[in-house]
Parts: sequence; structure tokens; C-alpha cells
Amino acid sequence: MSTVDTDVEVPADAAHATAQAGDGEVTSARLARVGDIEVRRLLPLRRRRSVGAWCFVDHYGPMSVDGVAGMQVPPHPHIGRQTVTWLIEGSVLHRDSLGSEQMIRPGQLNLMTAGAGIAHSEESPADHDPSLHGVQLWLALPDAHRQAAPDFGHYADLPALRFGGLGVTVFAGSLAGVTSPARVYSPLVGAEIGAGAGARGTVPLAPRFEHVIFVACGTAAADGTGLAPGSLLYVGTGRQAITIDARAGARLFLLGGEPLGETLLMWWNFVGRTPDDIVAAARDWARGSRFGEVKGYRGARLAAPPLDTVRLARKA
Ligand code: MN
Repeated sequence: MSTVDTDVEVPADAAHATAQAGDGEVTSARLARVGDIEVRRLLPLRRRRSVGAWCFVDHYGPMSVDGVAGMQVPPHPHIGRQTVTWLIEGSVLHRDSLGSEQMIRPGQLNLMTAGAGIAHSEESPADHDPSLHGVQLWLALPDAHRQAAPDFGHYADLPALRFGGLGVTVFAGSLAGVTSPARVYSPLVGAEIGAGAGARGTVPLAPRFEHVIFVACGTAAADGTGLAPGSLLYVGTGRQAITIDARAGARLFLLGGEPLGETLLMWWNFVGRTPDDIVAAARDWARGSRFGEVKGYRGARLAAPPLDTVRLARKA
């Protein structure tokens, strides 16, 4: 997906720690809009721009898209990061400037590597399911890899694990010795955790990773901290495991990785390091170079919002 915000940092009054829980901190999503869809934006936070390489976490739905167009995100560009698309309900059609055309359904991964530059569109297909529920996650490419060749992969067969009453799918990186087939560029984990009513289990963590965990539906406690949709629990490095207790059933996401140790400059759909990175990408998108063309989308591509170079320099 895309963000329509020029400034993907969190306004000072929008994100705040709502509770302190052990070494964890719970923050609240802010609401943002992507086309007609309202999303809960859980990352970035003003004081925490990334967790491992995870630098953007949007959760949307569940929502009815019965009889309406649903998701319609016109062609738009990206640089410097990978997009992880994961659905819980519904279907979305991806097209990109490499010529990829891929329908995605729940339990499958779309991983798009922007590298030096890619453009894509995402839309509910004409005959889409009546409901839509999913997450859109960005992984920052480490500086050494951010000029990587653009790539797109679809993965329908992903490793699954069981911890007590929890069923876990590892869609990115590694967890407990199993590794997703999707290529990522820094040590990390991305996993979906399904918990039936009354389910409880303990998920091992890599102590060198920092993590966040959030609930997409239902409610659950993570090491005793209650979570509902719209809340994000941060767990710092040095932890061996986290215990999930889902009395009424829940679906959760666990994202983590080695702290990136790099300062990201994020503007619109671009992840860079310097204002020049962003200015050049915006210029190239405006003049139709670098990113290629997305074929097959019915409608105009997105235009970048006005670029305030003074403000951008201040952010950097
Ligand atoms: Mn996008």
C-alpha cells in the first residue's frame, strides 16, 4: 500500500505511551487514511522510528467491502525498503513495474523489494470477497543494500510452528530455528500467531532482537499485558520468550529484529538517509524515470505531495 501522508512521523500529540508494563511499553495507533481505507498506524513512533528493520506498521479492518470498490491504491513509487503484504481476510491484486501481477489471499506473503526504485498498485479485484482485513508492513533496507535490484516474490507455502495452544506462521526472517523462504536483508522475524479461545503458549525470542507484538483481532495478554487492536507492545532486547494468553481467542503479529542502528529519513513512500535521496526520488517519479510503468491499473497514478525541502532538511 501507500501512505498519502507527506510526513510519516507521528505528530507530537498523537502517539504516547499509555502504560508501562515490565520492560514493555504500550503505545496507541494513530488513525490514517490510505485511499478510502482507514488504517491503524502503529509504527513509526516519534521516539521509535523502527523496531529491528520494521519501520512502518499499518493494520486495517476487518471491514466490509461488499458492493464497493474496496482497496484502490493507484500506481506509486517506493525506494529503500521492502513491503510485506499479509491478509487475514479478503483478496488484493498486486501489479508492479517489473510486470508482476499477483493475487494475494490470507496466509500468503507478498514481498516487494523496492531497492533503488519500483512502482506498484494494489486493488480489490472486481469479484472480491465481502470483507477485507490485513496488515501492510515496511522493512527498511540496511544502507549496504538499499540500492538492491527491485524484486517481487509471492510465497504461499510458509513454515508453521506450534507453541502450546498457539499456531505460528513465520512469514519473514527466522523464529525458533525455522526460516521463511522470502529474502530479507537483516536478522529479523515476522510471524502471525493464531490463538483459539483459551489458548496459551510461550514463544521463544532471539535475545539479540527487539520486538513488538500487536493484536489484529480478539484480545490477548502478552506476559500479562492486555492487548486489543490498536495497541502495540514493545519488548526490548535480552528477552528469551514471551507468553501469550488469549482467553477469548486472538490473532497477533510478532515483529522483531536486531536494532537497525541507522537513522531513516522517511517521506511519502520513500525511505532514504539524506534529503537528496528523497528529492531525487520525487523528481524521478514526477518526470517518469527510474521507477518504470505499472501496466493494467485502470486510473491515474498517484502524484507525490508537495515537497518542503526546508522541513525535510530539518527532519534529517
Ligand atoms: Mn506501496
